[in-house]
Amino acid sequence: MHKSKLLKVYACANCAEVEVKTATPKIRGCKKSSFHNWVCIGEHGLDKYVCKGCGIKVKIYGTPSPEGCTAEGKLHTWSKV
Ligand SMILES: [Zn+2]
Ligand SMILES: [Zn+2]
Repeated sequence: MHKSKLLKVYACANCAEVEVKTATPKIRGCKKSSFHNWVCIGEHGLDKYVCKGCGIKVKIYGTPSPEGCTAEGKLHTWSKV
């Protein structure tokens, strides 16, 4: 059986770092806390979004999740680029 590994976009809810991986990235190395707090934003794709709250840019298939923003309210405010 062929198993395809989908690339997903993760953003840290503490430091707003972005990683594109097939699984949750390592938790060490957070600049704002003891560990990264990775939140999966969605599947990696061609649609570009920027968050007005924390400023991160992601390339997503479909609509990115609002969870895990470092800005007040803790929800990303996505606008398509
Ligand atoms: Zn972090
Ligand atoms: Zn944000």
